[in-house]
Amino acid sequence: MEYKYDIVRSVRKTLSVSVSPENRITVHAPWSVSERKIEEFLNSKKAWLDKVVYGNAFKLQANSAVLKYKEVYVCGKKFPLVISDRNQITKDAIYVKSVDKIKDTFIKYFSKDFLELAQRLSEEMKLPANGFSIKAYKGKWGCCDAKKHIVFNYLLFMLPIEIQRYVIVHELTHTICFNHSPAFWRLVSEYEPDYKALRKSLKNYDFLIGLY
Ligand SMILES: [Zn+2]
Repeated sequence: MEYKYDIVRSVRKTLSVSVSPENRITVHAPWSVSERKIEEFLNSKKAWLDKVVYGNAFKLQANSAVLKYKEVYVCGKKFPLVISDRNQITKDAIYVKSVDKIKDTFIKYFSKDFLELAQRLSEEMKLPANGFSIKAYKGKWGCCDAKKHIVFNYLLFMLPIEIQRYVIVHELTHTICFNHSPAFWRLVSEYEPDYKALRKSLKNYDFLIGLY
């Protein structure tokens, strides 16, 4: 196998392979499986791996300025990120005192509009939530708990508005359906007929979650 990969062994029955947005390849393997078997397994997945790795490399290349903290996404568009003496968002650039001020600055500038959109969609869909909040999440875009309180990842403000809207519809639908069953997706499609394409587009932004 031409790719480097890590092997994570555990109590499991089958082999699987995952690729992170940064192209780190991890094989999940049972304790008993030999390295030769793992190589064979990976060779059988070669076409899939090539496709994923190539796609990620393309995305990483297209986002190189974002990855170097020279640019930052706002509503799906890239703006210069300027380290400066203030935390301020203008129509031309995002100014922050340091990269770790991005979170508070984005929350300050974009929460109000986002929460208004969430409230409006909640009313339109007739799916009341028990409050919304915004926070930094590692690993997810949103979350609806059993008490119907919905928390959104502030990094959503970086995504195109139609993807933000999809995530809101997705989480609101969880207020009446907690799993991702066919019934859940049917409900989502009533308010977001294009949800499959939006869900795919959302994956293009997964790398942001590891970045800030
Ligand atoms: Zn969900």
